[in-house]
Amino acid sequence: MLQKREKVLLLRTFRGRTLRIVREHYLRPSVPCNSPLCPRPAACRSDGKLLSSDVTHYVIPDWKIVQDYLEILEFAELKGIIFMQTACQAVQHQRGRRQYNKLRNLLKDARHDCVLFANEFQQHCYLPRERGESLEKWQTRSIYNAAVWYYHHCQDRMPIVMVTEDEEAIQQYGSETEGVFVISFKNYLDNFWPDLKAAHELCDSILQSRRERENESQEGHGKEYPEHLPLEVLEAGIKSGRYIQGTLNVNKHRAQIEAFVRLQGASSKDSGLVSDVLIHGMKARNRSIHGDVVVVELLPKNDWKGRTVALCENDGDDKASGEPPSEPMPTGRVVGILQKNWRDYVVTFPSKEEVQSQGKNAQKILVTPWDYRIPKIRISTQQAEALQDFRVVVRIDSWESTSVYPNGHFVRVLGRIGDLEAEIATILVENSISVVPFSEAQMCEMPVNTPENPWKVNPEDERERRDLRKTHLVFSIDPKGCEDVDDTLSVRTLHNGNLELGVHIADVTHFVAPNSYIDIEARTRATTYYLADRRYDMLPSVLSADLCSLLGGVDRYAVSVMWELDKTSYEIKKVWYGRTIIRSAYKLFYEAAQELLDGNVSIVDDIPEFRNLDEKSREARLKELVWAIGKLTDIARHVRAKRDRCGALELEGVEVRVQLDEKKNIHDLIPKQPLEVHETVAECMILANHWVAKKIWESFPHQALMRQHPPPHQEFFSELRECAKAKGFVIDTRSNKTLADSLDKANDPNDPIVNRLLRSMATQAMSNALYFSTGSCAEEEFHHYGLALDKYTHFTSPIRRYSDIIVHRLLMAAISKDKKMEIKENLFSNKDLEELCRHINNRNRAAQHSQKQSTELFQCMYFKDKDPETEERCISDGVIYSIRTNGVLVFIPRFGIKGAAYLKNKDGLVISCGADSRSEWKPGSLQRFQNKITSTTTEGASVTFHLFDHVTVRISVQASRCHSDTIRLEIISNKPYMIPDTECFQQSALLLKSELVKEVTRSVEEAQLAQEVQVNVIQEDYQKYCQTKGRSLYLLLEEIRDLALLDVSNSSGV
Ligand SMILES: [Zn+2]
Repeated sequence: MLQKREKVLLLRTFRGRTLRIVREHYLRPSVPCNSPLCPRPAACRSDGKLLSSDVTHYVIPDWKIVQDYLEILEFAELKGIIFMQTACQAVQHQRGRRQYNKLRNLLKDARHDCVLFANEFQQHCYLPRERGESLEKWQTRSIYNAAVWYYHHCQDRMPIVMVTEDEEAIQQYGSETEGVFVISFKNYLDNFWPDLKAAHELCDSILQSRRERENESQEGHGKEYPEHLPLEVLEAGIKSGRYIQGTLNVNKHRAQIEAFVRLQGASSKDSGLVSDVLIHGMKARNRSIHGDVVVVELLPKNDWKGRTVALCENDGDDKASGEPPSEPMPTGRVVGILQKNWRDYVVTFPSKEEVQSQGKNAQKILVTPWDYRIPKIRISTQQAEALQDFRVVVRIDSWESTSVYPNGHFVRVLGRIGDLEAEIATILVENSISVVPFSEAQMCEMPVNTPENPWKVNPEDERERRDLRKTHLVFSIDPKGCEDVDDTLSVRTLHNGNLELGVHIADVTHFVAPNSYIDIEARTRATTYYLADRRYDMLPSVLSADLCSLLGGVDRYAVSVMWELDKTSYEIKKVWYGRTIIRSAYKLFYEAAQELLDGNVSIVDDIPEFRNLDEKSREARLKELVWAIGKLTDIARHVRAKRDRCGALELEGVEVRVQLDEKKNIHDLIPKQPLEVHETVAECMILANHWVAKKIWESFPHQALMRQHPPPHQEFFSELRECAKAKGFVIDTRSNKTLADSLDKANDPNDPIVNRLLRSMATQAMSNALYFSTGSCAEEEFHHYGLALDKYTHFTSPIRRYSDIIVHRLLMAAISKDKKMEIKENLFSNKDLEELCRHINNRNRAAQHSQKQSTELFQCMYFKDKDPETEERCISDGVIYSIRTNGVLVFIPRFGIKGAAYLKNKDGLVISCGADSRSEWKPGSLQRFQNKITSTTTEGASVTFHLFDHVTVRISVQASRCHSDTIRLEIISNKPYMIPDTECFQQSALLLKSELVKEVTRSVEEAQLAQEVQVNVIQEDYQKYCQTKGRSLYLLLEEIRDLALLDVSNSSGV
């Protein structure tokens, strides 16, 4: 029995116009209440999540509380929260999609004890709005009415607390119904959660910033920015082509002046524009913040401006002017914001002196974000002085058109500025990486494997899986010391004489059920994060280093792909996919496998599995293993040759190997002897990924997760081509094949760095490889450019990539489908998968940025406090790889550092190198040419720097209080630097990088011991962030093959 009602919604638009929307609305006698106290569960039919029975009361937040205090309601400590539909709709209509999505995710999150109650569909809860009643009053009345209904529905057995900001409501309803209390949120926290300090701080901070805002709007300041246009005007404008939609990207080197809008969707095709749109100045940016999706109006051509090409420092002013900008480009102004992508920001409070100079209104403090691209934020706080030496997290609340800066509130302290842990925590927050230890609920789902209670193969699983333990010689080849073995290999001769190649991957999805706590956590993390000195795992170590790790000599579950190959042509005849049980016979390290391949069998003494064997069986087993490695290599060569013919690229790839000592510390990094066996393993993994991609796509053409690598834009190659030309090489970028071939040929026998730099430039020009859902992409776009394959996915590392977990589930579902069995895995729809892919892509970018930023942090800590005038380490050889109008970009092979070296200093003096090649600053001028730059003093002496010239540079650190420190490079001689100790010169970049990490870590630990007392204060924060310390670089290097295809640099602007 349904009753039809009409609900009239009056929505206010940005301009203050009112829209009337009429919705038909059906009332029902029962809607799910999701309470365990429900007297009529059959009628209510609660859907999934139920409130905990272990609470003393339910709490119902009023609409305004949900709008303003959602981040407090997110605290897991708060239990028994009922979100009324009325409140949720208020969020949706007045707070926008991002906030609404947060609320939806909270409701979905199984870890959080809260439910939705659709009060407006319940016939006794629904209240029509009265004539003359304001929307706000009606919303509050509806929520209160629903609270009373709910109380009675639960047979008056559970007290209900409704929290509101509305004083009148507290007066009116406070004592109206026994058992239903109406109090303020502050009052609620004080009485029910007196010890939840973080919630109280947050509450105060939000309250204060709101009061300030209210005061301000009453003061009626003048307008600083134009108002944003109403949504419907923006949408109509985009449709008609008048406006352009895109994501705002601020140039971090010129954050006050330059931002670009990267065109999105239809905009890029319809507008006829090929380039980004320049947004010049803060006014034109109109309160949009880096990352926001904005709507732009193009300015008339006369007002177009060029982008800056000179090197510049980020001090806000236009000092670099005097250097001509490039050609004018499409320039526009922001007229509206479609989506605000605000996140948590790390900021620094002004020093004491600066606070005083900020003057009259000392409660409102301007804080400086760590990220240059984010504008200063006004924070209301009385703690400014206490916070001035710390890195602090804040959130932005609003940015009114009357305010020069956005308003925000204080969230929490990360730690002391300059402290290693605080700086690492900063990098994590800035990349939205949250890595709290795994929770008890998550760990409860984990299998047990202890000496008293060892994990065993389950007889039921044994029946369902193909057992390879007796029939197949399975082994792994990994870097020395590897703990989490994702993948193993096998090869054997079949009865018909054909060969069988097998790739066996850890069966992670056996232990991680869809939508379990651990699954949700892994999905949120999406990847294992590798920082310079530590890593944060995607899965708990009982899986990643134990039960899912395909170690030698133990039974493990695997997902296998096995191919039958023709005995001579290696042509693939058949392929089999399925779940298996394996027992890996050998856990080999690369060097050992290579020695065996080369016929040097004396290495067996280093392979533990060969110890304690009698001579005869040792001989036999060795023969068997050597045959297998040889055969694998042969097959891999064949497969690789096939890809090479299609144009697979070898970009700047793995160049070093890492040696770990017993404690898993990085012991050494040694320039990689190119080991063929490394390529053999990689090729087998690529083959497995490729075949799994084909399989899941065939079975689920509209909802398979795959990986694409679009071909690069030709214009990005112009710098690469120019640079190569300077050395007399021709780079043909027409296809991946021609690019790969011409890069191979661009080799200067006298200077191997040239080829390395060219490959790195090619890498920079590449597009990102991305995950996507096959349902939202045309088949011809599936192509993987770098690997030269038509279909590709990630299947081989489920321990550290969530994409692979999804792919395993898809593969299992595909197998069930083939067997006409029920599909147990609940697969994602195309739309959900697309959203998930976006999330994983985004997390991968965060992983790369955090890795790069942490490496830079260590580099700076390594050089900091060293006297660049006297320390040997501060002087190094550098290679010029790019010419700018006022300087050059230099690569320092010894440390793997890239940076800018100015040829003109702040006083306007230019560099001059005398007969002894030593540099000095003198009055003069610079002249830039295609591949060189000349500095001429007023006395007439001149010096020219060419692309790929070797110069001597001095490395120093430019310290910054608010931002990360940066490496400064200064050319001190136009001649190469000869290190007295030639052995040192041979060492690779990463060898020194590892020493650098070691040295910095050691000195930080020493410093910590010295000031144990001071550190205590924020010890808790440290604990939270140090999940696993220690080994990490080697896995990072494993990833480089893939990373090489990804854009690690910040491509915006420069
Ligand atoms: Zn019920």
